[in-house]
Amino acid sequence: MHLHNYNSVCYFPHPLHTYHSVREVDWFSLSAVILLLCTAPFLVFFFVMVCDQYQCSVSQPLVELYSGEATLRSIWDKAPSFTWTAAQIYTIWVSFQVVLYMCVPDITHKFLPGYAGGVQDGARTPAGLINKYEINGLQSWLITHALWYANAQYFHWFSPTIIFDNWIPLLWCTNILGYAVSTFAFVKAYLFPTNAEDCKFTGNVFYNYMMGIEFNPRIGKWFDFKLFFNGRPGIVAWTLINLSYAAKQQELYGYVTNSMILVNVLQAIYVLDFFWNEAWYLKTIDICHDHFGWYLGWGDCVWLPFLYTLQGLYLVYNPVQLSTAHAAAVLLLGLVGYYIFRSTNHQKDLFRRTEGKCSIWGKKPTFIECAYRSGDGSLHHSKLMTSGFWGVTRHLNYTGDLMGSLAYCAACGFGHIHPYFYIVYMTILLVHRCVRDEHRCSSKYGKDWKRYTDAVPYRLLPGIF
Ligand code: NDP
Repeated sequence: MHLHNYNSVCYFPHPLHTYHSVREVDWFSLSAVILLLCTAPFLVFFFVMVCDQYQCSVSQPLVELYSGEATLRSIWDKAPSFTWTAAQIYTIWVSFQVVLYMCVPDITHKFLPGYAGGVQDGARTPAGLINKYEINGLQSWLITHALWYANAQYFHWFSPTIIFDNWIPLLWCTNILGYAVSTFAFVKAYLFPTNAEDCKFTGNVFYNYMMGIEFNPRIGKWFDFKLFFNGRPGIVAWTLINLSYAAKQQELYGYVTNSMILVNVLQAIYVLDFFWNEAWYLKTIDICHDHFGWYLGWGDCVWLPFLYTLQGLYLVYNPVQLSTAHAAAVLLLGLVGYYIFRSTNHQKDLFRRTEGKCSIWGKKPTFIECAYRSGDGSLHHSKLMTSGFWGVTRHLNYTGDLMGSLAYCAACGFGHIHPYFYIVYMTILLVHRCVRDEHRCSSKYGKDWKRYTDAVPYRLLPGIF
């Protein structure tokens, strides 16, 4: 076991130096940040607009622009604009989720065996704090969907196609909230941070805005920005958005395609898995390593609901009916991917919770003992598992996630590249995340991390990468 001072690489900065310390941002990171800030909102608009105006053909608008048949102005003018109806819908939606999050303490953990809800501890922050969270996402999801069902079956207050029918105007509203919350979090970090010792400043304002300064910004004791925006308005909506697409298919064509059912079912499994494991989620990178800025704030409000649901949107405009063999292959890929994703995450969780005193694939797990020092100089010990799925590659959970993502895309057939944007994006996201995480772990564990990568040499695909 080799001892490495984590502080020396500036991840767990010394509390006394944290608040006003300035970290340098390299040119590559800065260029990537500025590029993303400038292009991401237009990319989202593009993928939604091409369905509205071009039947989801990605190349058609480019061809028309090139030939002069269309101009940026004509495309923009044809796109639906902001409406007060959409603003009302979105305000009611976000307010309702705030009420469920803040005012309805979890009771589901009292009768659902194996579900960890209610007040739970998060991971230790760089400054050494352990935040408490009210885990009630599953309950919020259940209440919201029960109401959606009750409306569709009995009350008929609004049409189940309401989300689809207001989709581009809603894009405006989500952008307003996404920018407002990111800007608020940015200003708050300077004026009234929740925990000043967990703030991370760099010398660059764009980087601070995008990647965030505060670690766990909160209002009051319980309104946690990261958990709420990561886990409520976007993810609870994900399954409703898909249901709205299915309802639109029914309205337009008089039937719902098997591809639409597959997308609804596979993505609902993923969403429900998220809520069932919300307490575990407190220990993942988003919550326990990333700071809260535009990347999470705008990303959760806009990127997630619009781009994670592209398959269903595509299927409204292109109602693909799959052959039985194709549908079965997609279902199998999705379920195997989900199994690998969930089991890999579960193995690490079990291993860490029991400190290695558990059984993985019927045997005692093997592991590498590691040590590191945190910013205050104190010594900590940790273990990196080298058996089970974690002995196959170093991030098989990402591989499973990617298999599931490919299944959603393949459910849309091979007519257009539009629905395949998701797998391209997820590959970039998870490969980048893998590299970023390994860089951090290498800094944290030093030579112990090298011993681990020697024992498990591949990242995502055994023998390949
Ligand atoms: P992981 O759950 O893989 O966590 C990585 C951390 O686990 C490392 O930083 C290290 O932390 C610890 N670790 C690494 N190797 C080992 C090992 N061999 N044994 C024990 N601990 C180890 O990453 P994420 O938080 O990124 O992902 C969680 C899940 O969420 C994944 O399945 C991912 O696919 C999914 N995800 C989905 C996204 C989406 O948009 N759909 C976005 C992001 C993630 P330590 O410092 O504690 O040692």
